[in-house]
Formats: sequence, structure tokens, C-alpha cells
Amino acid sequence: MSTYDYDLFVIGVGSGGVRAARMSAQYGARVATAEEKYMGGTCVNVGCIPKKLFVYASHYHDDFSEAKGYGWLSHQPDFDWTTLLANKDKEILRLNGIYEGLLEGAGVTHFDGRARILDAHTISVGDKQVTTDKILIATGGWPTKQSIPGAEHIITSNEAFYLETLPKRALILGGGYIAVEFAGIYAGLGVQTELAYRGPLFLRGFDDDVRHLVQSELEKKEIALSFESTLAAVEQMPSGALRGTFEDGRVIETDVILAATGRKPAVADLGLETVNVAQRENGAIIVDDQYQTSEPNIFALGDVTDRIQLTPVAIQEAMCFASTQFAGKPQVMDYNDIATAVFCQPNIATVGLTEAEARSQYPAIRVYRSQFRPLKHTLSGSEEQSLMKIIVDDATDRVVGIHMVGAEAGEIIQGLAVAMKAGVTKAIMDQTVGIHPTAAEEFVTMRTAL
Ligand code: NDP
Repeated sequence: MSTYDYDLFVIGVGSGGVRAARMSAQYGARVATAEEKYMGGTCVNVGCIPKKLFVYASHYHDDFSEAKGYGWLSHQPDFDWTTLLANKDKEILRLNGIYEGLLEGAGVTHFDGRARILDAHTISVGDKQVTTDKILIATGGWPTKQSIPGAEHIITSNEAFYLETLPKRALILGGGYIAVEFAGIYAGLGVQTELAYRGPLFLRGFDDDVRHLVQSELEKKEIALSFESTLAAVEQMPSGALRGTFEDGRVIETDVILAATGRKPAVADLGLETVNVAQRENGAIIVDDQYQTSEPNIFALGDVTDRIQLTPVAIQEAMCFASTQFAGKPQVMDYNDIATAVFCQPNIATVGLTEAEARSQYPAIRVYRSQFRPLKHTLSGSEEQSLMKIIVDDATDRVVGIHMVGAEAGEIIQGLAVAMKAGVTKAIMDQTVGIHPTAAEEFVTMRTAL
């Protein structure tokens, strides 16, 4: 046992920090954590969880109108934003408590307050100082905003979860996960919504068929999509409304402008200048495959390393870290074929390579694609389309990419991600008997390559 107060001090109790602290303590380490904001980090408080609850809330709009085709003839009910906020806050409070209980149950000592590194083995939290053998930085990320005139009137996802009133109109900046997810949330809740993205087509990095289908589906929901469009200035008018001026001179009036233009590592005021921790230009902490920084006893994982900003990635990294450092079982994380979902409406889920990536990596590929109107919508009246796509390396028959746009895409792709991890071939998918009638069976019935 070391002579330090703790074997491990974890700064930040988000998804990665809590898992690392808990697992390390379970392996016998004396562990402390510190957090100045909320228990559970971005995911629980201002990310995945409240976002998904908002997505569910907004989807009732379609559910109510589609129910008519099934004989439910009552009027569409009114929506009450304050009820949603209150219930969402209650659920978050419950989850905060669960996270607190998990740390307590594992015997972790938690400090409320901002931790600062004083030297490689000393940390201060408020007026307390403690020593530790190892430090793990798991402080996550923070949303960014453009530096344009009037930027103080622009909100980020952090504030979007706490708006006192639901805006009538909203402008969303960006074309990534948060932008398309909030576009769907706002449109579903009846907000007149515009999404403005700087490039020719949003969702850069996703398969082109996915991007085009999501574009047409969002347009069907009357979300105004403005591509090649960059906001240049914002001013607040006497009425309280916001006037946004774009670089091409276009002017719009709206009630809320939400920047969903990426997140940066949360490293400010951590005391990193007192130690030898190398960082990238954007502040991201540089680590090796054991999450070790250039200061040998300081480690970092999750969004603060700015690699793949996903909760399950941070959690897996934390498990590898704890096992390597405190269980004597070194583990290196496999970053290949990480499945992900975007909860726009309809959802996107994807694992592996896009068609364009596969074409550049393999001499020959086969592409299987199916686009259809799901059975449910034959009566619901909805014109929503689903897309399923499989990309196969022709030489080995290995499936190298699977993509879906459609209801519950994340739920469907999760299982297929396991198959891909196990090296599934197209022949095995062909031998798999479908579950009928489901949308997912399409993945095992596509036979003709494009
Ligand atoms: P993303 O990286 O997904 O998207 C950022 C978007 O903003 C891109 O369209 C990007 O354009 C654009 N952008 C970046 N900088 C500027 C700028 N200076 N001016 C104008 N536009 C700009 O970030 P998000 O903020 O949407 O989300 C952050 C991360 O959080 C995601 O990458 C994801 O990892 C994670 N997340 C995951 C979710 C999930 O799992 N469902 C949900 C929400 C977030 P371009 O493409 O041209 O660079």
C-alpha cells in the first residue's frame, strides 16, 4: 500500500470517472473522487439521458396523429413543457442519487468541489489537500460557441435542457449529433425549426445514403434545412426575439439560437501547468493505449482526451484502466467497429465503415441496400422511409459496415454490432432466419448486391 492518502484520485464523476473509481475500488484500491458540478456528468445531466427523454416526448406528436389510421379518433392532446421539464428533472435527480450510491457502495470517498492538481501527487479540493499515488482526469467536455457579435444570446445544449418556456421558433447551428437530434425534438414539440449547417450536407462522416435519407425525412417534418449557411451575427430586438444575420446577408427572426457545433475538452483551471501533461492544440489530453499521459502517474480518459466522444466508450476505457492499474490484468481497448446511434427522427444507427470508406480500403466491395416504407405506416399514413444497408468486403465476404435509418435503429444495430465484432460474413447473415414481421428481418433477407 502506498504512503499517499489514496491510491487513485479521479477528477470528474461522469460516465468514465464513476466507472473507473468504482471498479478500481472494487479491485482493492483506496479511491477518492471530486466533482464541482453534477453527479453523473454530461450524459446524465445535460446529454444522453435528458435528450432521449425529450426525443420520446417529441415523438408523441407523430404517434398521436398516426394513431388515427388505426382507429384512435380523439383529438391530439396539448403539450405542456413544464410537466416534461419537471419530470425530466425528477428522473435526473434519481440518477444523481444512484451514481452517488454506486460510489458510496464501492467505498469511494467523494469530495464536492473543484479539484486542482498542485503537483503530480497532490490535489486540492476547496480548502482540503490530499495526496494520491495516481490521478485520473475524467473531466469530459464542454459545448463550444462561435465568437460572433451577439454570441451571448446563443445557447448550447447545456441551457437547452432548462429553458423556462418552449420557444415558438428555433435556429439550430451545426450538422452533427446534437443539431439533428434537437431539430427533431423541437419540430416534434411544435417549434418552427431551422437547422443551419456550414457545409453542403450535414452528418459528415456518416454514410452518404444515410445523410440523404435523413435530409429528406427532416424536410418532410418541415424542418428548414439551410446548408452552406453560416451565422455571422445575432442581436436581440426590443421584443426579446433574436435577429440572426447570415454571412450571405440573409436575416431571420427567431426565439432561440442553439449552437450544436462541437464540444471541447474541459481542462481549464485544472492545474495542468504544474505537471508535465502533454495536450493537443485544443487542450485534449494526450494518452497512450493505457490512458497514461506524459506524466507517468497521471491518466486521462473519456471526452477530455477528445477521441470518440461517446458515453459507452468512456465506460469501456474506464474498465480497461481499472483492470490494468488495479487488477493486474492489462486490457487494451479495441476501438474498431464501435456502433453509434443518432436519435434524430427517424433514428440513425451505424457500425463499421461507410460505403465511401470501404471503397477506399478494399479493392472490391458489395453493397446491399433496402429502402422501404415500414409496415406500420401502411395504416398510420406516415410517409416515413427506412433504410438498411450492408457493406461487404468482396474478397473475404466479411461484413465491414452496417447502417440503418428508421424506428429503433439503435436497438436493432446493437445486436448486429456484436455479430460484426465476431467477424460475421454475408453468408452467415444469409443463413440467419428472419423474425417476421419486423423491419430488422430486412438485414438477413437482402440477397442482391447493387
Ligand atoms: P459534432 O461533432 O457531432 O458536430 C459538430 C457540428 O458542428 C458539425 O456539423 C460541424 O461541422 C459543425 N461545426 C463545428 N465547428 C463549427 C464552426 N466553427 N462553425 C460552424 N459549424 C461548426 O458535435 P455535437 O456538438 O453535435 O456533439 C458533440 C459530440 O457529442 C458528438 O460528436 C458525439 O460524439 C457526442 N454526442 C453523441 C450523441 C449520441 O451518441 N447519440 C448525442 C449527442 C452528442 P463539420 O461537419 O463541417 O465539421
